[in-house]
Amino acid sequence: MILDGRMVANLRNGILKEKITSNNVKLKTAIIIVGNNEASLVYVKNKIKAAKKVGIETVLYHLDEETTEKTLTDLIGKLNNDKTIDGILLQVPLPSHLDDYKFINLIDYKKDIDGFTTINQGRLFQKLPTINSATPQGIINLLNHYNINVSGMNAVVIGRSQIVGLPVAKLLTDLNATVTICHSRTKDLSLYTKNADLIVVAVGSPKLLTADMVKEGVIVVDVGINRVNGKLEGDVDFEGVSKKAKYITPVPKGVGPMTINALLENIYKIKGGF
Ligand code: NAP
Repeated sequence: MILDGRMVANLRNGILKEKITSNNVKLKTAIIIVGNNEASLVYVKNKIKAAKKVGIETVLYHLDEETTEKTLTDLIGKLNNDKTIDGILLQVPLPSHLDDYKFINLIDYKKDIDGFTTINQGRLFQKLPTINSATPQGIINLLNHYNINVSGMNAVVIGRSQIVGLPVAKLLTDLNATVTICHSRTKDLSLYTKNADLIVVAVGSPKLLTADMVKEGVIVVDVGINRVNGKLEGDVDFEGVSKKAKYITPVPKGVGPMTINALLENIYKIKGGF
């Protein structure tokens, strides 16, 4: 069965829009992008469009590639102090002369809608109320929608990035899955994946997970985004793996829309405090 991220995201966006309009909530988010990274420009455009659809106002700060540390520091400081701005999103990666985490951590954690600051990630690991990064939260929301209870499952997360692999492993652990984290130095990936009830793949390598690496009835969540011959593909050999999987996310229309939905829900959540 396909886990239809687009359908679930549309459903949740509709509920969010209803909450925003019926309660007359005013939400305004600043989005900062530095330079002209092509993928980042597309992501930002999609976020602005999605926000508008649910009634969230965005203000875009598109800074040029040569932006100095001081300019970016000053802008984030100004937005932190601006009471009309509820959330701040700094699109990463930044150009190489600017350190992503140095600037992410300048964002007031109460406006950190991406949940990337040290404070919010620390709060996740201490089980305190926080803002979870959008992709991990979107994955959990998708599993919940299909009543997939991960408690007791053997879960394998492939990828250990700060924004996807590690936080999703933590959220699954909190939901009582037994989680193994694999990465580029894992000696024999299939040793782990063959025994997995649930596999989350977040690598960025097309066809990394193939049918021979999974058992019948597995649940597969494909986070990867790869452009292959002009087409979007995930990290999973969908054709082969979907024949064995009980549930599987497609790419596109799987985790992507759930990520955007979770981001919009974060903006709403931040307004109410956490
Ligand atoms: P990342 O920071 O580059 O991390 C990739 C991870 O994959 C690393 O932990 C790396 O291991 C591991 N890895 C690399 N090659 C491997 C291999 N052959 N076998 C096992 N593990 C391997 O990437 P990310 O930011 O987490 O993103 C991962 C993918 O998800 C990308 O395609 C990205 O575009 C996509 N993504 C999609 C969404 C969405 O909304 N759908 C959101 C975010 C990201 P090491 O740690 O050892 O280097």
